[in-house]
Amino acid sequence: MLTPSETLCQLHQQAAEVRVYAHIGARMYVRSGAEMIRMGGVYMDEKNLASAYVLYTKYAVLALEKLPKHPGYSKLSPEDLKVLKKRAKTSLDVAEELKKRIRTQLDKEYERYEAERAENDRLSDRLAEDLQLTEKESGKKLTDEEREDYERRLAKIKEAERLRALSEANTIVPPDSSKSRSSRSIEPSPDDNRNYSRDVYNLIDSGANRGSQQLRPLLVPGILREKFAALAERNTERNVETCGVLCGKMSNNQFTVTVVVLPKQSGTSDSCLTSHEEELFEVQEKYDVITLGWIHTHPTQSAFLSSVDLHTQFSYQSMIPESVAIVYSPKYQQYQSFSITQHGLKVLSECREAGFHYHAKEPPLQQVSPHVTMDPSIGITTVDLRL
Ligand SMILES: [Zn+2]
Ligand SMILES: [Zn+2]
Repeated sequence: MLTPSETLCQLHQQAAEVRVYAHIGARMYVRSGAEMIRMGGVYMDEKNLASAYVLYTKYAVLALEKLPKHPGYSKLSPEDLKVLKKRAKTSLDVAEELKKRIRTQLDKEYERYEAERAENDRLSDRLAEDLQLTEKESGKKLTDEEREDYERRLAKIKEAERLRALSEANTIVPPDSSKSRSSRSIEPSPDDNRNYSRDVYNLIDSGANRGSQQLRPLLVPGILREKFAALAERNTERNVETCGVLCGKMSNNQFTVTVVVLPKQSGTSDSCLTSHEEELFEVQEKYDVITLGWIHTHPTQSAFLSSVDLHTQFSYQSMIPESVAIVYSPKYQQYQSFSITQHGLKVLSECREAGFHYHAKEPPLQQVSPHVTMDPSIGITTVDLRL
């Protein structure tokens, strides 16, 4: 079991890992920053102190250290800069407070762990003494049966100790994530994409309580298809794409899409550009939701992610790995949610092309999202800002 200081150090290292890409707009990071704060609040409510601590620290690192080096930083509005600075200060204060609480919790657990270990040592020592005494007194060696019995009892004590150490280690940081820490010093090899992606991507997602790269479930209201199709209909008839932003909540390690926002936009037959992003931010603040992906139509094509779509999806997925791209093709009656594969994340993080361009198809860059469920029982709020 790690000592409290070691565990804290591990969390801090995790928090310091913030990577900002020049080809993702600075404004996107401002928006994601706001979402990190909202997510942090959720973790606080869920008493997930470690994840909250990592997120608030990440925000401070982003706002004070990483984002100022982004080429688009100087072009951010004075309001954006003010918000960043103000929130960075609050985040640092909150993180400091959380650190104290985590430390107290860790100290308590470690004390208990040490006490139990001492007790176990005492028990096995006594068992050994008893054994020697019996041998001496009776003046003969123990029978095989007696010796076996002794060894069984000793093994039991050891096993109890091992299990306890494991479960204790789980309460703040699961053993899996400590594994990923120790492997971090090794340069990621090409087939080590899983670790690589976990460390490099996922700005918002802290993952402190989620040792593995496993995606958390994302629920999408079944009614979204119908509602979005209706909102897109006029464009679809004119062979013009429509796009919307999927927003929602996280609770108990599960995401739910609750709001779809259609920002002001201009579409063509194979593209859709949004504008007036601040209006989207306002809606998100109002409903207290985070971005969980996007949805768009392919009026005449089938449902898949084009090269441009892949780059758009990369910026969503690099913030929260569970973010999805839903594509609706009225012509082929296809409706599918897509995610970028681990391999795809690596390719796209290195690709600097813009507009429609070629990516090698194998291994695949996209896949049908494995973690998404269309739930017919939940409703959705639509906010149409196009008018
Ligand atoms: Zn598309
Ligand atoms: Zn590309």
